[in-house]
Amino acid sequence: MKLLYVVIDGMGDLPIEDLDNKTPLEFAEKPNMDFLASRGRLGLMYTVERGVAPESDVAVISILGYDPYKYHVGRGPLEAYGAGLEMKDGDLALRCNFATLGQNRQIIDRRAGRNLTTEEASRLADAVNRLVKLEAHPAEFEFRNTIGHRGVLVIRSRVGYSLSGKISNTDPAYERVAGLGVAKMDVKMILEDCIPLEDSEAAEVSAKLVNEFIWKSHIILDGHEVNGRRESEGKLKANVILTRDAGDTLPKFFNINERYNVRFACLADMPVERGIARLAGMDLIDLPPPSGDLVRDCIIRSEKLLEVLEKFDCFYIHIKGPDEPGHDGDYMRKTEAIAAIDRYFFGRVLPKIRLEETVICVTSDHSTPCNLKAHSDDPVPLLISGGEVKGDGLKNFSERECGRGSLGILERGTMLMPILMETIGAEKTS
Ligand code: ZN
Ligand code: ZN
Repeated sequence: MKLLYVVIDGMGDLPIEDLDNKTPLEFAEKPNMDFLASRGRLGLMYTVERGVAPESDVAVISILGYDPYKYHVGRGPLEAYGAGLEMKDGDLALRCNFATLGQNRQIIDRRAGRNLTTEEASRLADAVNRLVKLEAHPAEFEFRNTIGHRGVLVIRSRVGYSLSGKISNTDPAYERVAGLGVAKMDVKMILEDCIPLEDSEAAEVSAKLVNEFIWKSHIILDGHEVNGRRESEGKLKANVILTRDAGDTLPKFFNINERYNVRFACLADMPVERGIARLAGMDLIDLPPPSGDLVRDCIIRSEKLLEVLEKFDCFYIHIKGPDEPGHDGDYMRKTEAIAAIDRYFFGRVLPKIRLEETVICVTSDHSTPCNLKAHSDDPVPLLISGGEVKGDGLKNFSERECGRGSLGILERGTMLMPILMETIGAEKTS
């Protein structure tokens, strides 16, 4: 029995007055997900637990079956690992953004106008890697741009010294609360100094290295030809690299394939989800980065899945789309994103698979309610269908119907994976 475990980013929501008091999922035209719902079991899930509005990384760790309180080590290392950088304990890994720095440390745009192309970012990253030398400590670094304005940075000591992730963010939009990245409410758009968050030499050295990296790379970036051209085209310069979510260790996940005696593959495009999947022991299927056109991206993902379907037992498929309009409070665009995923992903996959031999789970990593424009702790909709699953007789895949389903309410995301493995008849080996 195969498993398609589809996680749709930020899909959960709350009723919206302008949508006849329906949620975007409830309002969206989604015949394929409704078909799965009508033959499946429904429920709701707190992806971490009640009271926690998680970031994606924490939530994904949890819904893949790893207790986030035990395994979470900060987003930087996960992103770096997912972007293909090597990282070992004692290396310092950070999530980065290209941004626009003006006079007096003022940040004009945290994302350099949000229109930096991957080609521009690659050329800038190349210059930084070639020309910046760190001297605060004998260290080398690797900076890699990932998607658009995003990037990752790994700093390694050349003398075997262990660096520390206990340092502050220089990106003013995020602060660190108990080691976890949290979006700040009122943001002063000033480039912050990186400061140690604990009284240790390692944290002090690490903060110094990050500050040195930021200022030396700023000089290179500000004078780079790519930025000269952007300026002449009336675009914002990508002349500074902001850092956040530092970490110095990788989580020690148990191997998901060995635990359940299956072969898992991951179809996800963002570095953080790829990093988590790679650490869990899944094979990463190559995907082009998101193109900004969800229809096109869904078609590519459906084709990729069908191409590798025979090679693996289980697939963790993470689809972006509804989260961003949720952050923008744009409920129509969120509704359209859900409909596009239904039509161009599920609509193309379902006719090509044998449902009696395939269990399909559809859920979300967290809710991103349009009215809040942020992640919330509201439980996410959950459906398990196909295989030998007996349906609940409910017709509509929505938060409301899921509240009436036979799966009930899963109080923790870690409860889901054992249910899925039991449903496909996988044997737990330890
Ligand atoms: Zn998410
Ligand atoms: Zn989000």
